[in-house]
Amino acid sequence: MSALPFRPSRHSSRPVKVSFEFFPPKTDEMETALWSSIERLAPLGPSFVSVTYGAGGSTRERTHNTVARIVEETHLKPAAHLTCVAATRAEVGEVVSAYWNAGVRHIVALRGDPAGGLGTAYEAHPGGYAQTSDLVEGIRRIGDFEVSVSAYPEKHPEAPSLDADIDALKAKVDAGATRAITQFFFDNDHYLRFLDKVRARGIDVPIVPGILPVQNFKTAASFAARTGASVPDWLAARFEGLDHDLETRKLIAAAVAAEQVLDLVDRGVSEFHFYTMNRADLVYAVCHLLGLRARPAPDAQRAAA
Ligand code: FAD
Repeated sequence: MSALPFRPSRHSSRPVKVSFEFFPPKTDEMETALWSSIERLAPLGPSFVSVTYGAGGSTRERTHNTVARIVEETHLKPAAHLTCVAATRAEVGEVVSAYWNAGVRHIVALRGDPAGGLGTAYEAHPGGYAQTSDLVEGIRRIGDFEVSVSAYPEKHPEAPSLDADIDALKAKVDAGATRAITQFFFDNDHYLRFLDKVRARGIDVPIVPGILPVQNFKTAASFAARTGASVPDWLAARFEGLDHDLETRKLIAAAVAAEQVLDLVDRGVSEFHFYTMNRADLVYAVCHLLGLRARPAPDAQRAAA
């Protein structure tokens, strides 16, 4: 994406759908921050909110507890992330059944990173799922879940080629996945070229762009290095010299994220998944620019009627 003039989208009248991703909190303080973000973003009416699963299943309980609290205390539709790492098929099945019993109907199915860390070879658990397409099939056998999977516009770091990665995506969709959410990217051309290839391969489920608002450029660049997402020079230039200037950084971050999503809207995209990092302000502002406005919760609407 080249530098674009900041302007309202030509397609702003088209309804936009959003979803928000959170991670399970580790401490009481983080729990408070997470819930204040959920409360701030909930009135925007997301299609769903998802909760990640820590590497190697390390947050199994915390993910479950966060998702269960969303079911009990909000009107939001939660999606629980789940990986194949370090678990037998039976153990994964128990987690999936527990979600079903808790009223959860949407799972984000992932392989997960190698237990030895990024850069090491992935080895499936001897009694576990070898690949995500098998996990998707397993989940669909347990219940009539909506299943989302990942997609990589700039290729998963382990994939030999983008075409091989798209074959893996096809296998996940053929196994029953109903949506893909992409790894974050900063250059919209990567996403749109990927979308063309995916459609040409006969994959017709929504490929929802994952948007990472850059709260902190150094952190975002280090995530990108780990996930294979490229960081354009123009993005680095925009945050240059702002390491100790939080106020300006926040304004630039909002402008950069707005520019990215509005360009996507102009190019026909109407659904977005936001990596919130459990913080609401930037995502809320970008959603406002996308035309979303706070709505009263369904109970409040009924009471007013
Ligand atoms: P997969 O689709 O399983 O692919 C992994 C690699 O294997 C690719 O190179 C693919 O091309 C190859 N491959 C897959 N199937 C085959 C096959 N049949 N034959 C040959 N090659 C194949 N990680 C977490 O730990 N917890 C999370 O909550 C989490 N949430 C995520 C959410 C999103 C939207 C995204 C994009 C990623 C998330 N991740 C999460 C990261 C993810 O676990 C890692 O990227 C992991 O390395 C790959 O898992 P996957 O399901 O994304 O990839």
